[in-house]
Amino acid sequence: MPPTATAPESRTQSESLDQLASVAVNVGLGLKPGQELVMTASVDTLPLARRITEQAYRAGASLVTTLLTDDESTLLRYHHAPDASFDRAAKWLYNGMAEAFKSGAARLAVAGANPNLLSNEDPDKVGRANRALSLAYRPALELITRHQINWTIVAAATPAWAAAMFSNDAPDEALAKLWTAIFFTTRINTPDPVSAWKTHDAELHKRAAILNQKRYSALQYRGPGVDFRLGLADDHEWLGGGTTAGNANYCIPNMPTEEVFTTPHKDRADGTVTASKPLSHQGTMIEGIQVRFEHGRIVEARATRGQEVLQKLIDTDEGARRLGEVALVPNSSPIAQSGLVFFHTLFDENAASHIALGQSYSSCLRNGDKLSPEELAAKGANTSLIHVDWMIGSPQLDIDGITATSATEPLMRKGEWA
Ligand code: ZN
Ligand code: ZN
Repeated sequence: MPPTATAPESRTQSESLDQLASVAVNVGLGLKPGQELVMTASVDTLPLARRITEQAYRAGASLVTTLLTDDESTLLRYHHAPDASFDRAAKWLYNGMAEAFKSGAARLAVAGANPNLLSNEDPDKVGRANRALSLAYRPALELITRHQINWTIVAAATPAWAAAMFSNDAPDEALAKLWTAIFFTTRINTPDPVSAWKTHDAELHKRAAILNQKRYSALQYRGPGVDFRLGLADDHEWLGGGTTAGNANYCIPNMPTEEVFTTPHKDRADGTVTASKPLSHQGTMIEGIQVRFEHGRIVEARATRGQEVLQKLIDTDEGARRLGEVALVPNSSPIAQSGLVFFHTLFDENAASHIALGQSYSSCLRNGDKLSPEELAAKGANTSLIHVDWMIGSPQLDIDGITATSATEPLMRKGEWA
């Protein structure tokens, strides 16, 4: 049973939270009656996580298992654990998650991390812990990047995240502002969020279909600090909005989502790219990223802040220096229109065109889910332990599509669809 329909402006906070939980479970996740759900959340997100649990059971979930993390406990590890701790991860836990996915469970992540949590910690420890976590998480992540299961990510406002975004406001006010921003960008403050999502999803599919008809071989980017040509993978498919997962359940993986995206060719990126927004990566902030690509590989990388973390990130493995995703987002997206920097990829990547270092999505290649790793690589799909999106779109960015016959067509002008 969905929460009662009331006009958005007269909804209480509690009603809006129920709406968000219901939309996350029924539209984002597409949970099926009898399906198990594995949810990850932090203790600070419990007000939403508990409502998601309720909505999941109302939708017929057979079992909801929530794995909770706690920021304070994470910091205790950095302050008191022996050095060897930072090469460890709970492999048994992620193997268990992979097993749950293989036996039919859906996956929901409640985001809400403090973007600065690890900013003052030793970058070497942060880098090693991230790498160990990526390695341990790989079997579970693979089922997600291959879209074998229905999954989604939804955000909850948390005090630390709100403080990072609204540093001039009192804590209560900051938290309220962040909730308002979340309800706005996830279309919860519309009279009928479910139908708003259906319309939006259809628009993203239409946009992807147009790009699939064009079959561009490459994209050419020009803007402040950006002079960059990016080849697309052979047989690439643009996706946007929801997809039918390998377990036959339809899901919309991110809430919000504004992007249409595909797989670039791992060997065909050349030129210079400058990030248009700071990147919050696993609790550390990386600002002013500028990298130069040659034949798909980063040969020079700089950041004005967090340089060491960036270096560690691209040294994770060979694929971490190459691109696994290219996404187009117009500047008119609600997230961009909010004028806020969220310091959170889930939001910021939906405010601006972006590229991602690392692992590609095989679902962005024709019949990609049926191809072997060797076949995927032959088409230009990248593999890595990491997948990190960073924003390059801005109101000054122009993008051209290059056709198979080398003709140039305007695709985006000043950050908008041409
Ligand atoms: Zn993306
Ligand atoms: Zn991505």
